[in-house]
Amino acid sequence: MAKFILIGSGLAGGLLAAYLGRRGYDVDLYERRGDPREGNLVGGRSINLALSTRGIHALEQIGIADEVLKHAIPMRGRMIHEKSGGLHFAPYDVDPNKHINSTGRAALNTTVIEAAQRYPHVRVHFNHKCTGVDLDSATAQLLNTSTDQPLSAVADSVIGVDGAFSAVRQSMQLTIDNFQYDESYLAHGYKELTIPPGPNGSWQMEKNALHIWPRKSFMMIALPNPDGSFTCTLFWEFEGPRSFATTKTDNDIRRFFEDEFPDAVPLMPNLVEDFKDNPTGSLVTIRCAPWFYKGKVALVGDAAHAVVPFYGQGMNAAFEDCVVLDECLAKFPEDRHYAFADYFRRRKVNADALADLALENFIEMRDKTASRTFRAKKKLDHFLEAALPGIYLPLYTMVTFTGIPYAEAARRARVQDVLVYAALVVLTMSILAGLYWLVR
Ligand SMILES: Cc1cc2nc3c(=O)[nH]c(=O)nc-3n(C[C@H](O)[C@H](O)[C@H](O)COP(=O)(O)OP(=O)(O)OC[C@H]3O[C@@H](n4cnc5c(N)ncnc54)[C@H](O)[C@@H]3O)c2cc1C
Repeated sequence: MAKFILIGSGLAGGLLAAYLGRRGYDVDLYERRGDPREGNLVGGRSINLALSTRGIHALEQIGIADEVLKHAIPMRGRMIHEKSGGLHFAPYDVDPNKHINSTGRAALNTTVIEAAQRYPHVRVHFNHKCTGVDLDSATAQLLNTSTDQPLSAVADSVIGVDGAFSAVRQSMQLTIDNFQYDESYLAHGYKELTIPPGPNGSWQMEKNALHIWPRKSFMMIALPNPDGSFTCTLFWEFEGPRSFATTKTDNDIRRFFEDEFPDAVPLMPNLVEDFKDNPTGSLVTIRCAPWFYKGKVALVGDAAHAVVPFYGQGMNAAFEDCVVLDECLAKFPEDRHYAFADYFRRRKVNADALADLALENFIEMRDKTASRTFRAKKKLDHFLEAALPGIYLPLYTMVTFTGIPYAEAARRARVQDVLVYAALVVLTMSILAGLYWLVR
């Protein structure tokens, strides 16, 4: 059986190792951090994530979906917090059983790594940082960060599952002629804050919702955790008259939150300390091509296609990559070059579509969710979905609650929008014509 080296045991790395282990491949997984079970959590990243249909499907194939969902909190819709204190709940779908799941990153990471380790030919090496890859010989250069010893490891193929700032992708950039690479940062950064549990571990806001405080050019969101707390994320401009750059003192911080999120402030006793202590993360979209080099090297997850987090799909898409790569390896068991090329062909167009959808959804979340027109459009979406089952599917439903490829979902939604707009124009004209007839 062929041997794979995987670089990065984050969410996708752990799951991909399990998929490859299940096929009987020999797998060495190298991770620069320590074992997450020893408290080496992924610093500076979201503490919880929204897991939805695509991700659940990928976990189901490996038999760990129930284990993950046991600890997840269903979120059935968006709870919009107005500045005035008003609250509006907007369900995600016409079917109340459709929900997304707030899932702890650390626990999920541990679950996928343990799933991989159940296969006898999968070995995980923590504290091993990849410093480069020789593509032609599929050799990874590594540094054992516990001993400071460099080493190299050879396999039949190396897969970079090492996230947005992938070392494997960097080696491809340096080696492959005409390697396409584009990175684009938002002017907004993000900072995580906490709403601690209430008395007896109770939730101080509606538990089964994703909370949003939309404020036009910026927003805060909050996802529930099993211990009764919420993790809030403020998405805000790095620079500008009111921004991370200008909000430094305790008074600045308190004043900003009291002005913008007055209902949240009493629930955040450690607001000022959290704001000052927690890092401000950046938000990047990365597009590159190709995602493979012969049958020797391939990229999976954020290493191939980091997207901004506003559709809650980055991890779900990374998990879907694992399913598709596994299918391609099964289709071309004797030729990994064909398998990688087929995987790239199937995924690239969809990753590009998701990148666009995620950027568009930032505007929807931070601005449109506050408007009556938006809420009316959502109601119309749900009405049409119920009236035309299987024919009309809102974009959010296709992306979040189906496995329809992202590019196909985006295309279908554009066609639906045109048809609905045309139907509304015809309806309005018919009503006006009828009124004209009556009063004539
Ligand atoms: C604020 C925020 C909120 C998000 N919310 C959601 C959400 O709700 N739903 C969702 O689906 N997605 C969400 N995402 C996206 C999600 O976090 C990523 O898409 C997902 O983590 C990608 O998984 P990955 O395994 O490809 O990369 P990562 O999770 O980044 O894992 C990469 C791993 O590689 C290791 N590594 C890196 N470099 C090296 C090296 N040189 N050598 C060895 N190891 C290395 C890292 O330590 C890490 O363990 C969010 C992202 C952010 C920033």
